[in-house]
Amino acid sequence: MGADLLSGPAAFVLPKGGRTLSPRRARLRRETRSTLALLSVAGGFYNARMRKRNTATKNPAAQILDGAASAPGTKLNTPPKKIPGRAAKPQGAGHMPPDPARVAEIFRRFEGANPHPKGELDYVNAFTLLVAVVLSAQATDLGVNKATRALFAVAGSPAKMAALGEEKLQNMIKTIGLYRTKAKNVNALSQRLVEDFGGEVPHSREALETLPGVGRKTANVVLNIAFGLPTIAVDTHIFRVSNRIPLAAGKTPLAVECGLEKIIPGAFKPHAHHWLILHGRYICKARRPECERCLISDLCRWPDKTA
Ligand code: SF4
Repeated sequence: MGADLLSGPAAFVLPKGGRTLSPRRARLRRETRSTLALLSVAGGFYNARMRKRNTATKNPAAQILDGAASAPGTKLNTPPKKIPGRAAKPQGAGHMPPDPARVAEIFRRFEGANPHPKGELDYVNAFTLLVAVVLSAQATDLGVNKATRALFAVAGSPAKMAALGEEKLQNMIKTIGLYRTKAKNVNALSQRLVEDFGGEVPHSREALETLPGVGRKTANVVLNIAFGLPTIAVDTHIFRVSNRIPLAAGKTPLAVECGLEKIIPGAFKPHAHHWLILHGRYICKARRPECERCLISDLCRWPDKTA
């Protein structure tokens, strides 16, 4: 009986568990197993192809072939995906040497439109400018100005700021982001100015950078605005604008600063910092640059410009 069941015309089967299956269920089970086997073979074939392809792209010879396949006009030539708002990949134009005539014309136009550009932070002297710049890190100028109006009225010098104390200072600037750290730094730098610099803001970048909370960018702003030196403080706006146009392409703020130092004609340097910041803040904005309103659109080589 058992042998008949096993060898009959697929009428019944005895699976491992010893259960008896109807012909219909037995057929369904056989079909399911066949389908799974086919899928498994196809999956293995696909994985093997992908492994081969991945290996090939690491192989220099295969890379040459890939390059040929992605030449203009071929099907595989997919352009890199553009990320809106991402600053400034020079994309070819950035690797060209800056053209002095074009750079000079850009600054001539900035000057023509705004001969005496001003920063937007409120201050009453070099010390309050220094404090305002320290407080403006990752905060808006408007927000800083709101808080400093009352602060500078009572603590407009290093001695008065140090005397105010960290706790009172915190209370006066608590509407500004990171206010605890900033209050600590402003209090400490005020004490340092009193103790080591006779209550004055030093005129050198090296000395400024020894103060708590003061980096190269802050030092450059103070040197430029308070003391009229032709320094360029590369913030996020200048970094983006300089890479886009491009004026000086670079991967770090320092590289951009050094590049700008080299290419901006001396006559324009004192105001270059403000022109570039204002251009980046109001026209060449990160996400939606207003190229149609841009007064240097014909001189800009950014491939994504819209005018
Ligand atoms: S044309 Fe557009 S991208 Fe170029 S500088 Fe002007 S606003 Fe910026």
